[in-house]
Order: sequence, then structure tokens, then C-alpha cells
Amino acid sequence: LPNEFTDARKVLQVIEDAGYQAYFVGGSVRDTILHTRINDVDIASSAYPEEIKSIFKKTIDTGIEHGTVTVMYDGKSYEITTFRTESGYQDYRRPDQVTFVRSLKDDLKRRDFTINALAMKENGEVIDLFGGIDDLKKHIIRAVGDPEQRFNEDALRMMRAVRFASKLDFTIEAETFTAITKHSYLLKKIAVERINVEFVKMMLGKAPSRGLNQMIETKLIQYVPIFNNYVSNIADLATLSISDYLNNETQVWSLLAVQCGLNDDQINHMMKAWKCSNKLTENVRLVVLACRKIMTDNLDAMTMYLVGKEDLDNACQIALAFGHLVDDDRIENEYEHLPIKSKNELKINGKILINHGFKPGPQLGRVLKHLEQAVVSEQVNNDYDSLLAASKKIINRQ
Ligand code: ATP
Ligand code: MG
Repeated sequence: LPNEFTDARKVLQVIEDAGYQAYFVGGSVRDTILHTRINDVDIASSAYPEEIKSIFKKTIDTGIEHGTVTVMYDGKSYEITTFRTESGYQDYRRPDQVTFVRSLKDDLKRRDFTINALAMKENGEVIDLFGGIDDLKKHIIRAVGDPEQRFNEDALRMMRAVRFASKLDFTIEAETFTAITKHSYLLKKIAVERINVEFVKMMLGKAPSRGLNQMIETKLIQYVPIFNNYVSNIADLATLSISDYLNNETQVWSLLAVQCGLNDDQINHMMKAWKCSNKLTENVRLVVLACRKIMTDNLDAMTMYLVGKEDLDNACQIALAFGHLVDDDRIENEYEHLPIKSKNELKINGKILINHGFKPGPQLGRVLKHLEQAVVSEQVNNDYDSLLAASKKIINRQ
């Protein structure tokens, strides 16, 4: 078994020694069989939350109402979730009631896809009650049970199907696919934050073009913010080999913004509609700015300075994804040779200027901005005397 399980096995052993069942479940079992990198190791147990808490000395009530307790063991933390069934799906969203059960089968039955409904014992033995291993071999995403019912229970599962199809480069089994096409409109009921998580993971998967095409074919694309109005842009995006270049969330949104031709206001609007943070929005605006300049061979020192190293690199990746020949070594080299990387590196500041008789206030701020720009574009040297002389010239002009 992969290293990730080495310590966790002891936790399973402790639970079993106390007379309960415990298994690895979900993504970690799937990824182990596929020999791909494991994201997180989830543990499921027949022990009720209170029983887990009585077995281990140190625990945290992470999501105790859903049955999840975090256990601290040998200096590491593990999330242990009690076997449960779900009921009372109102409004096609998450269940409003979970019931703790003692049967592994009932717990696996509520899971979304056969490949995610595998369990593994401490000794590595896999429990496969729904043909998950076979589907892993055939590279198929198949709903557990009746797909129509499962998507009615929780419409997010349709996005998850597309997400896993992209993540693993698998096909969605025909009946499951048809059910998504039939119920795609139910995605309207799902909180954007949850769709966002699956959508970004889809874009960062092995086969994002496949994911995008499936969203179009099933009409899921019609029920997500913004891109419902850009379906042909999205279809064109799916013809590029984007997976070779995308590796973070900033790149995902920047790529989409460039492909849809969005300006700054439209980028803000997109990011708000998708409930992205202000910080991420700011980064995306900078990446898009830099990317457009790179693609028109217009990248100047001030843009590199404003955008910064990390987002400059993101911009290069996006330009590459669009097939632009980018000399990223040269760009990185030019960035490294900027006279300053931030305004703190200016050899003069507001306080010094005030000591030289400049009046505090917005005008002083403008002078400093001018200096920053002049130094970055190598019009003024970053030394005390040159900056002071330049400041006097600027103030006289204003
Ligand atoms: P990743 O490697 O991306 O974390 P994962 O399979 O662990 O993949 P999670 O979203 O972390 O995916 O969910 C963990 C497990 O919980 C899934 O493997 C699946 O068994 C179950 N699950 C999660 N969300 C749902 C859902 N909406 N409906 C049914 N089962 C779900
Ligand atoms: Mg997970």
C-alpha cells in the first residue's frame, strides 16, 4: 500500500480492536488501484461518533452532526466518518437528514459513482459491492444504482460525473450520461460554491476538453453562471490541448476570461457570479492583462512589474495554451532584471520627500507613483539624488 496509508492503518487497527469495523473509503481507494497520486485518506467506520470519541484520547468534533470526527493519533490527524445513509433530499440538494448505520453496504450505496464506492481493509483487501473495479478497468464513470434517482437526490453529482471524467480521462457510461442530459436543468438548484469546486477540478483534470464537451452535450453548461452565454467560446476552447498547461485555479479563470474576450468589468462580474474571492479576482485580472500583452508581443517592464513573478508565469502558461510561442525563459530573465520589484525598493519614500519640503497628501502619492514608473522603465536611476531631482521636476510640472 502507498505511504499515505502506513500510519492510517494503525488507526483502523485501534478501531477494530475496540470491536468496530473501519475501512478506507472513497478517492484514496480508487486512486490506489489506479496507481495515481492520493489526495486525502478518508476513513469510514461502524462506530458512532461518540464511540470514536471514547476510543481515542484526542478528538475534534469536525462535522459531528454528519458523523465526522477528527482523531489525533501519533501526532497526525484523521477524519473518521460513521457509516451513514442519507434521506429527505429536498430541492435536489444535499440531504437534510443523515442516519448512522452499522452496515458498510448501506454507506457505500449512498456514494455517487461505482469507482468512488470502494472500501479497503487495513490489510489492503478491497470491498467492491457495485462493480467499481470493473469500471475502473473499463475507464467508466457509472452512477451507483438508478442514475436518474441519484441525480434527483443531489444534482451536484452531474457536475461530479463530468469532473471525474476529466480528472481520470474516463467516459461516462451511457445510461448515466443520458440521465445527466435529462436532468441537467436541476443544476440550477445547486449552490454556486459547490459547482465551482467541481468545475475547477474538472478544468485541472487530465482531460478538461472532454469535460467541457460533455458539459455542452449534456447542457450542463446552460445552468452555470456566465458560460451559458459563451457556449461557442467554450466549444472552441475544448479544441485546444489545455491540460498540458493548466495547473492552478488562477490559470483556469484567466484562460476562460481570455477565451471569452472579457474586459476588467466583465472579469469582475464573472468572478463574482462564480463566488470567487477578491484576491483570486485581482490575480486573474493581472494574468489576463499580461497574457494579452504577451500574445501581442507587447509585454513591457511596467506590466511585468505590476503583475509580479508568479502571475507572469501564469500568464505565460495561458499564452502557451493558446498556441502562442512564448519564450518564458527570456520573460523570466527580463523580470529578474527589473530595476525594482516593489515600491519598497525605491531609494526614497514619502517621509524623505516631506523632510525635503514636500507637502503630505494625494499629490505626494502621485509623485511617488511617477517615480515608481520612471524607475521601472529605466528613465530614472534608483538612487537618492536622481530620485530627489526627478521628484522636484514632477512637482513643478503638476
Ligand atoms: P478527490 O481525490 O478529488 O478528493 P474524492 O473521490 O475523494 O476525490 P471527494 O469530493 O473528496 O472526492 O468525496 C469523497 C467521497 O465521498 C467520494 O469518493 C464519494 O464516495 C463520496 N461523495 C462525495 N460527494 C458526494 C455526493 N455529492 N454524492 C454521493 N457521494 C459523494
Ligand atoms: Mg477527497
